[in-house]
Amino acid sequence: MNNIVVIGSLNMDMVVKVDQIPKVGETVLGGAFKTIPGGKGANQAVAAARLNGNVSMIGRVGRDVFGEELLKNLQQENINTQGVTQDDEETTGIAMINVDKKGNNNIVVAPGANYKCIPQDIDAFENIVATAKVMVLQMEIPMETIEYGIKLAKKYNIKVILNPAPAVAIKKDILEDIYLLTPNETELEVLTGLKVSNEEETKTAAMELIKMGVKRVIVTLGDKGVMLVEKDEEQVIKGYKVKAVDTTAAGDSFTGALAVSLAEGKDLKEAILFANAVAALSVTREGAQTSLPNLEEVKTFIK
Ligand code: ADP
Repeated sequence: MNNIVVIGSLNMDMVVKVDQIPKVGETVLGGAFKTIPGGKGANQAVAAARLNGNVSMIGRVGRDVFGEELLKNLQQENINTQGVTQDDEETTGIAMINVDKKGNNNIVVAPGANYKCIPQDIDAFENIVATAKVMVLQMEIPMETIEYGIKLAKKYNIKVILNPAPAVAIKKDILEDIYLLTPNETELEVLTGLKVSNEEETKTAAMELIKMGVKRVIVTLGDKGVMLVEKDEEQVIKGYKVKAVDTTAAGDSFTGALAVSLAEGKDLKEAILFANAVAALSVTREGAQTSLPNLEEVKTFIK
């Protein structure tokens, strides 16, 4: 089985359309309100599952209405949710998002149960981890849990993809155990403290991560595709030309697609070409999980 285990966040996004983002102390009347399943962990799990990945999720939600809805949503995507713990005290993670007509937004995230996701949450489902080929992590859960997951992956010789979002410093011994790090340009700046505004600077900063012990780095470059950096070599792999409508979850779809390809045993270049196609298709559509394509759509797009 080409199993993928995603360890990460689950959020309910609460989105209100507004004419104008309210200022401090101001009350405005909003338009349509929607609750939309999100969180980088869940988005990446759904991205991989739609591409026929065999996905299990490990994470934590509250024992509340949103938690139930998020679990149901993942189950509808054929994701194994046995590893998602329901917290009796903490609420499910939420994001309150105001969006104006131009697409400007402001967002408040209350991580809730995501920050209660502890190493024991992974430990309790070691059986799930043990059968995985690829482990995918992001950084919306506590660092000690991420570190624990990576150590466990090492025990079972599982390839770890760490999507360092939101970026914070990562310990050197953890960096050494990662198969692949996938920052975007902003995250690369935070991880290295270096400015990243052109190809040369991207290369220099990514090389810095290699010096810190990372085996390989894929820097995602938006419409320019990606830069793959391994040892002392770097190459840019161009993305697909599409009319971008909404780039939300572009990185999540890219990471989910990479995981599927690598779990199938494809080599990294092939995995990147596939992930570029999946992510390009996702930016032609609105929303996060709503924009994630299925395998048939990707095959038609690539043809
Ligand atoms: P993030 O969403 O994490 O900021 P990026 O914006 O770098 O990540 O996008 C991730 C990937 O999505 C890119 O490497 C590329 O494959 C694809 N992508 C993003 N924007 C576009 C675009 N406008 N056209 C085509 N592909 C895109």
